[in-house]
Amino acid sequence: MTELWERALSDLRSRLSTENFQTWLAPVQCVGIEKDTVTLRIPNRFFQDWISAHYIDLILDSLKRETKQEKLTVSWEIDEELQERVSPTPTEPERLPAPQVRPASLPGGRHAADLNPKYSFDNFVVGPSNQLAHAASVAAGSDPGKRYNPLFIYGGVGLGKTHLVNAIGHRILCDKPDARILYLSAERFTNEFIWSLQNHRITDFRGRYRERCDVLLMDDIQFLAGREQTQEEFFHTFNALYHSDRQIVVTSDAYPQQITEMEERLISRFQSGMVADIQAPELDTRVAILLRKAEQEGIALETEVANFLAQVVKSNVRELEGTLLRLAVKAELLNRPIDLELAKETLRAVLPATDRATTVEDIQRAVCDYFGIRIADLKSHRRHRAVSFPRMVAMFLARQRLGTSYPELGDRFGGKDHTTVINAVRKITGMIEKDDEQTLSAIAAVERKLGF
Ligand code: ADP
Ligand code: MG
Repeated sequence: MTELWERALSDLRSRLSTENFQTWLAPVQCVGIEKDTVTLRIPNRFFQDWISAHYIDLILDSLKRETKQEKLTVSWEIDEELQERVSPTPTEPERLPAPQVRPASLPGGRHAADLNPKYSFDNFVVGPSNQLAHAASVAAGSDPGKRYNPLFIYGGVGLGKTHLVNAIGHRILCDKPDARILYLSAERFTNEFIWSLQNHRITDFRGRYRERCDVLLMDDIQFLAGREQTQEEFFHTFNALYHSDRQIVVTSDAYPQQITEMEERLISRFQSGMVADIQAPELDTRVAILLRKAEQEGIALETEVANFLAQVVKSNVRELEGTLLRLAVKAELLNRPIDLELAKETLRAVLPATDRATTVEDIQRAVCDYFGIRIADLKSHRRHRAVSFPRMVAMFLARQRLGTSYPELGDRFGGKDHTTVINAVRKITGMIEKDDEQTLSAIAAVERKLGF
């Protein structure tokens, strides 16, 4: 057994970065395989969550190859003694701190608000799609802890949630330079919490979030889904701040009720204040965002060209900005002006080929073509990465491009649960945000094929 696991590990080592391998896989032990269940021993629950979300397909792949078994599932066994062996590895603070790594900004270290200086109200373009969220953010930033507390902002990826929360922080600091503002993602909160538990620093942790904090800006709260202990901690943090009138702002990719596996009492806290959504921007807003961005970056952009780009790129602001920057780089390299001609050349691949509306089946077919797999594979329950990755990409595209509901997508992909679809969309979104090459090129290729 040990030998088999060693072989699987050495295969995995070659497929992961050293840092990820050391942090997540080196501490894992294989207890045994019985029929089609392999039992893995891990130091704590967080490892289970993390490995399930990121490495399980790779692990099963390797083990299947080693054991020549077609089907394998994992069962987990938590062994706290393993904890002792999890040695701290240095991690860049911007990367995800592994739970055992001391987070960059726990008490003892200096803490800045960690706000992104690029994101202010000044450079946020307001339109019908984000008007409410913007107004609520300005109000919360001008009069923190009063009328809009808590403020809950939700909306799809790349629509400006992180931008707005940071802007709130800047506005508060501007009025009250001494305000103790904590801006962080729910993911970092989770990691710091676990680290503090493991290293007996929970009192510090609580002091930091419940007492030495005037404003808590928590990004991407959906990360807490299914993490009961962290939710409980956050619940108490929330109450402590709320009852002393300190401002709390939370962002999420979904409306409170729609966050899966979130405790009811937290959901009702989120709903007790102001809930504001951000929608995809309308054409005029997209044009205005492009012009503003161009001005900020010193790019000479004619309104005509901005109009053209805004008509073609519709999904989200991040993509809009990306297109503009690509165009600017191309112009510079070719030593040409940014005009309609260059824009059309650059975007030709993504211009719509036909007027017929794309369907989920079209997306499935295009994804299968690209990856060289069958539609039946896509709809199967196989978890092999060669199949599961294309499946996730197809789910993501259908959701993002067609807006099909999660349950319906579950049906169209061979009768899967809607949470499977939600997880797939999230996983691909995460990969995109990390600029993962394979994901980006797959999506670009499939979108081109579909004429998006
Ligand atoms: P989210 O957190 O919702 O995924 P971000 O806040 O990271 O989205 O926004 C993605 C990019 O789009 C950022 O560079 C942000 O500055 C920009 N952006 C989004 N909305 C606007 C807007 N209304 N005006 C100007 N820039 C925007
Ligand atoms: Mg964000």
